[in-house]
Amino acid sequence: MWAITSKTTESRQEGRRLHLGLQFKFAATYILLIAAVLLFLNTYPVLSSQELIFRGKRDTLRSQASLLSSGLSGLDEITASGAGQLMEQLSLHNLTQVVITDGAGTVVYDTDRSAQSVGIPCAWPELNTALAQGVDVFHPAFHGGAFQSRAAVPVTVGGQVVGGVCLFEYDADQGSLLLDLQRNLRSISLVVCALAIAVSLFLSKALTRRIGRLLQGIRTVREGECSHRVKTSGHDELAQLGQEFNQLTTRLQTTEEVRRRFVSDASHELKTPLASIRLLTDSILQADNMEEDTMREFIGDVNQEAERLTRITEKLLTLTRMDSAPASPEPIAPTKPAPVIRKAGHMLEPLAAQSEVKLVYHLEEDCSVPCSEDDLYQIAFNLMENAVKYNLPGGTVIVTLAGTREGTVLKVEDTGVGVPEEDLNRIFERFYRVDKARSRAAGGTGLGLSIVQDTVRSCGGTVEARPREGGPGTAFVVTFPLPDPQTQN
Ligand code: ADP
Repeated sequence: MWAITSKTTESRQEGRRLHLGLQFKFAATYILLIAAVLLFLNTYPVLSSQELIFRGKRDTLRSQASLLSSGLSGLDEITASGAGQLMEQLSLHNLTQVVITDGAGTVVYDTDRSAQSVGIPCAWPELNTALAQGVDVFHPAFHGGAFQSRAAVPVTVGGQVVGGVCLFEYDADQGSLLLDLQRNLRSISLVVCALAIAVSLFLSKALTRRIGRLLQGIRTVREGECSHRVKTSGHDELAQLGQEFNQLTTRLQTTEEVRRRFVSDASHELKTPLASIRLLTDSILQADNMEEDTMREFIGDVNQEAERLTRITEKLLTLTRMDSAPASPEPIAPTKPAPVIRKAGHMLEPLAAQSEVKLVYHLEEDCSVPCSEDDLYQIAFNLMENAVKYNLPGGTVIVTLAGTREGTVLKVEDTGVGVPEEDLNRIFERFYRVDKARSRAAGGTGLGLSIVQDTVRSCGGTVEARPREGGPGTAFVVTFPLPDPQTQN
């Protein structure tokens, strides 16, 4: 009891582990994917806007610096008053600081008077590069929520660097716009992220719950509960998996029921002759002075019952062998049925003579069927034996073999007792007999037609029983498929 409980708990824990594992994987994948998209959305627009603003600043600062530089190059000498006048004439906009130096880099003019830089060398590295290399230099930066851009341009006269212009712009407006954009994107991302986590957890839980239900169903069936079915909804792959599982379980259940019935029927059939044998031997043992004739009669009965047991076990073995035989991968070479049918009829002649039954043949010699000779003999012998066994004295068995467009048809008709309409389909079941007493008296086992049906199916054909046309009796019709042309020589 304890072992069963602990096993169940163990399997439940295992299920939960798998459940959590899958759920975690699904959720983590969704979240990682969304996080990557959000990271991209958070950085790309901010960086590209910043780059765009930098480019605009570079163009305006450079053009203003160039304008100032060309104005200064027209002066005889770069002086504070000349620079001041030029500044007034040009009325440059949006500049925070303008510094003008001579060719050696000493400040001549500075709009920021509080810096007191006039007369001392300019400390801006951009200006030093511009003077030393005679090129325009632009340095953009985004610090403390503002764009801080510097541009330095040399003043040249006849190819000679005679001075330098340095412009500085501090732009907090565009800086705060960029910061707003960054803040808004971050808030949107946080909301989207929270929603994505909630949705991914919900979706992954729903998905794993369905997988868990399927897993639980498989376990229940594995533990022997073959009638268990899983609930399926929707049309996705999981729903299809559930439907397939239910179909598989139905098949398993049917097979299990057939197996149980077969085992119980087989034991019942074996028990009957064994009980008779016991009864007969007990009678012999208990009788003190049994007459020899009576004793012989009893032993004869024991012998008959033993023969019946042998017949049943042989047929059971045949059926078991057929059940477990793998399907032949090679197509079977075709066999001509006419000689095989005649051989079976020859073997049945003593029984037919004893039962006063006549065997009549209408056989097309050229027909061939995709079936081994042994299988064909098994089919013909069982059907013809039944036609004799269940016939009436003076009756006839007509065996017809003909080739049709659908295949080769073997028909075994008799003028015997017939099979009631409602039993026609059931007589192929194992151990099913219409008239038990008659079958027993005729040495029947109730397995002959099952063997016929299994053998015919293994040859790819079909068999059916129907009332004989034009009179009492039964007709068994076997249709074999046309032989595979590849195997014909
Ligand atoms: P059995 O060994 O009892 O003949 P079968 O499987 O060959 O077993 O046949 C099953 C039952 O079908 C028989 O018991 C009999 O009742 C019925 N049956 C089979 N063939 C015929 C026939 N040709 N005419 C009438 N009944 C038949």
